[in-house]
Amino acid sequence: MNFKVPRGTQDILPSETWKWQQAEKVIREVCDVYRYKEIRTPIFEQTELFQRLVGDTTDVVQKEMYTFMDKGNRSLTLRPENTAAVVRSFVENKMFGYPDQPVKMYYNGPMFRYERQQAGRYRQFVQFGAEVIGSADPAIDAEVIALALDVYKRVGLTKLKLVINSLGDTECRAAHRKALIAHFSPHIEEFCSDCKNRLEKNPLRILDCKIDSGNPLIASAPSLADYLNEESVNYFEEVKSYLDDAGIAYEVDANLVRGLDYYNHTAFEIMSTSEGFGAITTLCGAGRYNGLAEEIGGPAAPGIGFAMSIERLLLAMEAEGKSFESEPALDVYIVTLGESTRRPGFKLLGELREAGIRSDMDYMDRKMKAQMKSADRLNARIVVLIGEDELTEGVAQLKNMADGTQVKVPMVELIEKIKANLT
Ligand code: ATP
Ligand code: MG
Repeated sequence: MNFKVPRGTQDILPSETWKWQQAEKVIREVCDVYRYKEIRTPIFEQTELFQRLVGDTTDVVQKEMYTFMDKGNRSLTLRPENTAAVVRSFVENKMFGYPDQPVKMYYNGPMFRYERQQAGRYRQFVQFGAEVIGSADPAIDAEVIALALDVYKRVGLTKLKLVINSLGDTECRAAHRKALIAHFSPHIEEFCSDCKNRLEKNPLRILDCKIDSGNPLIASAPSLADYLNEESVNYFEEVKSYLDDAGIAYEVDANLVRGLDYYNHTAFEIMSTSEGFGAITTLCGAGRYNGLAEEIGGPAAPGIGFAMSIERLLLAMEAEGKSFESEPALDVYIVTLGESTRRPGFKLLGELREAGIRSDMDYMDRKMKAQMKSADRLNARIVVLIGEDELTEGVAQLKNMADGTQVKVPMVELIEKIKANLT
């Protein structure tokens, strides 16, 4: 029987993990500079959390969740996104009581969605996201946007587009909702069965439907922008002026509605405008979610956050021809000649490693020539040769691979000499 990775998932092989680690390093550094702290929540949560917070009528909840019963008959779901869990943790751990408000957090980990696989779309993918909970200051919206953009800039991306919109508050959304129902009701028979379902429950979702996106009634639908009340308009203006001050370019798109239920006020996406990027251009999706904490019994704690997948970040880098600095080469490779030199070689290897020198030796019983080839293949900066003669003399040959020079060094001085050669 041949086993394969489950559909929509991928192995990240040892030759590839370096890029992931570098991307994650950039993320940690940027978050540190912005004073965001990492939070790690479980991979699975109670199913109801996502139903309540992400929304029963969203594609994510209706079609994409990996839900299962555990042996204790509890319905659990592999997290399809992480804002719900972070807000759950915020409420459960009473973070609203922390003296430092708002609470600024980030996460980085696997998410799971049962989706149709295509480039940039997986069933298990890694999302990095940031969440700020406890402040409704429009400057925070601009800060969160700046953070996301900084991560992309730090990995070298330049072909980016920031699109923002305001979804308004509960009041404007209710008015807009009414108008949408009135607009679509007479023609709902033309729409897919999901949209028929959405009409009463969540008509905004119709605008986001992938099946009916070509229907002219979608283009002519009442725009949320016309329903924003004064407070929402002012809030949006403030966000934009903070972005202007920060020199961050953006486009306003009144049709930007996000795929999850919980968003209000500021919504934004960051896209790649790189030609080679393919059909999916959205790198990062985000928005404000005032009221989410209350939804699960917490106090009023307005929040905002974004999520981006590392998969799409790496794809965007590839499309723009950007790469990380290559993995550093091995410092030392030990070549041993003859049975009696193996143990001293192995002992030396231990000492090198203890000194923090990245080193290795042969474990395949190879001949000297093949060992030298290994050293070459691994790009070793130094080769230490120990033959039987050297052993009796208490020395080793130290070969600097960059310039090809070889010197005889007493064993007791070897580590110091190697260190000197490596600097
Ligand atoms: P899309 O419209 O592409 O399905 P979405 O609106 O479902 O995106 P969000 O839930 O906002 O996406 O997730 C935020 C980000 O997570 C996306 O911008 C993308 O970078 C990433 N993402 C979402 N789903 C996937 C996936 N299946 N595979 C890889 N990355 C994903
Ligand atoms: Mg999606």
